[in-house]
Amino acid sequence: MDDGTMEEIEDLELGGRRPLLAANWKMHLLRREARAYCEELRRDLGEAMVDIVLCPSFPLLGDVAAALEGSTVMVGGQDLHPAAKGAHTGDVSAPQLIDAGCSWVIVGHSERRRDHGEDDLLVAAKIEAAVANGLTPILCVGETREERQAGRTFEVLERQLTVALSDEAGELVVAYEPVWAIGTGDTATPEVAQEAHAFLRGLLRELLGDEAEWVRLLYGGSANPDNAAALIAQADIDGFLVGGASLDPKKFLTMIRVSAPAL
Ligand code: PEP
Repeated sequence: MDDGTMEEIEDLELGGRRPLLAANWKMHLLRREARAYCEELRRDLGEAMVDIVLCPSFPLLGDVAAALEGSTVMVGGQDLHPAAKGAHTGDVSAPQLIDAGCSWVIVGHSERRRDHGEDDLLVAAKIEAAVANGLTPILCVGETREERQAGRTFEVLERQLTVALSDEAGELVVAYEPVWAIGTGDTATPEVAQEAHAFLRGLLRELLGDEAEWVRLLYGGSANPDNAAALIAQADIDGFLVGGASLDPKKFLTMIRVSAPAL
């Protein structure tokens, strides 16, 4: 039996999708703090039965990749430009992220959509560039509070997912990040999150067929050590994209432990 088959059997034994926790550090931490964080994470992690990705801001990538070398913790960028190179001041390309040690990249985060006017077509181009270059994208989708109150949640999720995946043909993770829950402490209840995740899973089945069963759906939006267990217990929640709580390695480690499947 080859390694791939063994891994698939292990995945099935774990219930299909291996949990994934991605830390979105946003515009936080200095190089020295990032190195200390990685040391603590490595020291206290043990045998994690989950996949872990740290997404620091660009100037920290080299230090974080070096500090994690030889560990199972992976590194991701927080954004990328669709082009491989060129005159795009302030931007970073997929080949540059890979060169800095990344295998993952966050795409379409609501703060990029809000602060940089990113629309669904640009997000689609970024997904395509990530996949074409061998980075696994974490595609962020989610409705604003006004959209939810207007009963438009599913319409927004459908548009964001469908446009973003129009040219996609590779490994992908989707993060449901209701904008009203990000950084507010107003976490979605497990029921509200599961309803959105089940809707996204149904859409993925329409778009990707059987492949949809393997796409991990992360929840993001004020997830923390206190609410993680109830959220991860939902059928279609396969892990977390964590902002604020991921800045404290102790809190992030607790969330990792809570998310590990019981064997
Ligand atoms: C995020 O920005 O991706 C996020 C989930 O942030 P927070 O956990 O702080 O709400």
